[in-house]
Amino acid sequence: MERNSNGEWVFGGQIPRIVFGIDSLQHLPREMALLDATRALVLCTSSRRENGERIAALIGDRCVGIFDEAEMHVPVVIAKKAVAKAAELAADCVIAIGGGSTIGLAKAIALESSLPVIAIPTTYSGSEMTPIFGMTESGCKTTGKDVRVLPRTVLYDPSLTLALRAGVSVTSGINAMAHACEGLYAADANPITSMWAVEGLRALTDGLPRVVRNTADIDARSECLYGAWLCGAVLGNASVGLHHKLCHTLGGTCNLPHAETHTVVLPHALAYNAAFAPEALRQIADALGVTDAPQGLFDLAKSLGAPTALKDIGMQENDIDRCVEIAVQNPYANPAPIEAKRLRVLLENAYHGRRPSSAA
Ligand code: NAD
Repeated sequence: MERNSNGEWVFGGQIPRIVFGIDSLQHLPREMALLDATRALVLCTSSRRENGERIAALIGDRCVGIFDEAEMHVPVVIAKKAVAKAAELAADCVIAIGGGSTIGLAKAIALESSLPVIAIPTTYSGSEMTPIFGMTESGCKTTGKDVRVLPRTVLYDPSLTLALRAGVSVTSGINAMAHACEGLYAADANPITSMWAVEGLRALTDGLPRVVRNTADIDARSECLYGAWLCGAVLGNASVGLHHKLCHTLGGTCNLPHAETHTVVLPHALAYNAAFAPEALRQIADALGVTDAPQGLFDLAKSLGAPTALKDIGMQENDIDRCVEIAVQNPYANPAPIEAKRLRVLLENAYHGRRPSSAA
């Protein structure tokens, strides 16, 4: 939503049809019928092949195949193979069951073929709510935005996340929180995305500690998935700043794991922007129930057993210089100006696992 030259608010956001509820997976045949789809290619990772088989059993002869080669960061070679498979089997829709990696593969197919995607998320990273796609080739990740890749239907069934380990639950959930945090200070933020962001942050702040205490707590799982939905919707409808750009650089340059990188960097990126986005920082702190958003997020991650240092997730200290150099190269909108000196302090703090500092 933005004010046009007449001073009107215009909300042009696009979101998928959402079905949310424990055991809502059973409604998949109905959702396929609503899309007039009768030939689904089902996507999953090899380690979660049983999820693909469960879908195949549920939709019977409306499944034309299972492609179980989804991988982190959507390698182009896998995407091409999946596109060819969908064409060979004359699929008329793609059903992705899994996290952002599997949903990312479905988006790659949709980008090429315009096939409708039904996403069934099993993590909390929020990718299912966005028209953003990413693919990797020779260690280089390219991302883009295209409405064709936005899933047509998202089926949220919290019981499907019961098997998700506490660690992945936390890091994927904090990845989603990062979407909400940056959405609150985005130049194109609006009252709707801000409402989603605040409620999404509140839900994940409440749900994640309960999941860590008891991974079988279905109410806590529901709260987290609800939070992921809202935070993902923010990412789909508002732009991102320093935090997401930095994580993209760290992921691509140092080959760091996606959700863990977001988890470590977020408190530091917020501290960097704090003086330039005080209202957003206040909203984040309120949603978290703390007085200081960066410190509160750092403490939350630590208390949940998540990584807090880049050196613990594969970064080398001599990568800092290269990352600073890349991060200042392409200018982008961000509350605080992007300055090499401050970025270096940010990355040094994040590398060593120090508390976030507004001096960064
Ligand atoms: P993921 O999809 O990479 O999954 C992590 C691991 O958990 C995998 O091994 C997977 O098989 C396993 N897993 C998934 N669900 C499970 C379950 N319920 N039980 C047990 N194991 C399960 O994790 P992610 O963090 O959701 O996704 C990361 C990817 O998503 C990155 O490539 C990132 O770039 C992308 N992403 C994209 C967007 C977007 O808007 N385009 C947003 C967020 C993340």
